[in-house]
Amino acid sequence: MKKNVGFVVGLLLVVGVSIAGFFVYKSHVAVKSKSATAPVENKVSTKQDKSNDNNSTTASNSAEKTKTASVVNNSSELKKKIIVIDPGHADRSNLEKEPLAPGSSEMKIKDGGGAEGVVTKTPEYSVNMSVSMKLKALLESEGYIVKMTKTKISESLGNVERAEIGNKENADLVIRIHADSSDSSKVSGASMLVPEPINEDTRNISEKSMYYGKTILNALVSEVGMNDRGVVQRNDMTGFNWSKVPVVLVEMGFLSNAQEDKLLCSDEYQNKLAQGLCHGIKLAIK
Ligand SMILES: [Zn+2]
Repeated sequence: MKKNVGFVVGLLLVVGVSIAGFFVYKSHVAVKSKSATAPVENKVSTKQDKSNDNNSTTASNSAEKTKTASVVNNSSELKKKIIVIDPGHADRSNLEKEPLAPGSSEMKIKDGGGAEGVVTKTPEYSVNMSVSMKLKALLESEGYIVKMTKTKISESLGNVERAEIGNKENADLVIRIHADSSDSSKVSGASMLVPEPINEDTRNISEKSMYYGKTILNALVSEVGMNDRGVVQRNDMTGFNWSKVPVVLVEMGFLSNAQEDKLLCSDEYQNKLAQGLCHGIKLAIK
């Protein structure tokens, strides 16, 4: 009998502890599940914010939307800007002829060949390609889309072909990269050539080209530190007369000047030229 009493008491104790344990467990689960619902509520409220944001139902959401939209627009606008870089000349001249302008009976040689360093004997096409590739990398790092008219010095293009690449891309700017030469070894510095308004297409692009040309040349000469020979309108350049998009041609210095010849062939100076041109383009094409 004593044994039975002990058994019953023991059984009651076990049942009691189990019931107590059950309630402790339940309350714990309740707390746990409460905290577990919190992120779900947040999720719901986030969803709500989002739909409000889309509908612009509150002032703060509307402001947020404007902010987001302007960020998106800025980056997409910048991404949309297309710069065509045209490295001048090739490793051989191209004496075929092409019309100076659409509808013109005047024919001009496709590529008479470029200049050559008076001291270094470096061909102009080599300097042009080198600076062009550096400029391409810099512009791409700034978010521009860059198209090259050519990437090999062996590619020999006519100026109509070059212009048509810019037209096909609907470029915001075509920049043609050249180095200059003169009979006088004393002449030095950079100049910018831009189209003169001689036909309907050049009339449409001459004002913008002039503004871009001035802006880019100013940045180039001030950053590199060289003689400023100014912006010149030209009506005798096939590559301008066939263009339907803003176009400029930079003459980065004189290969006929001993000092500039050496500079134009140095990697460090070419980096400076590319940086100056890139900054100018950034100021011009926003
Ligand atoms: Zn040239």
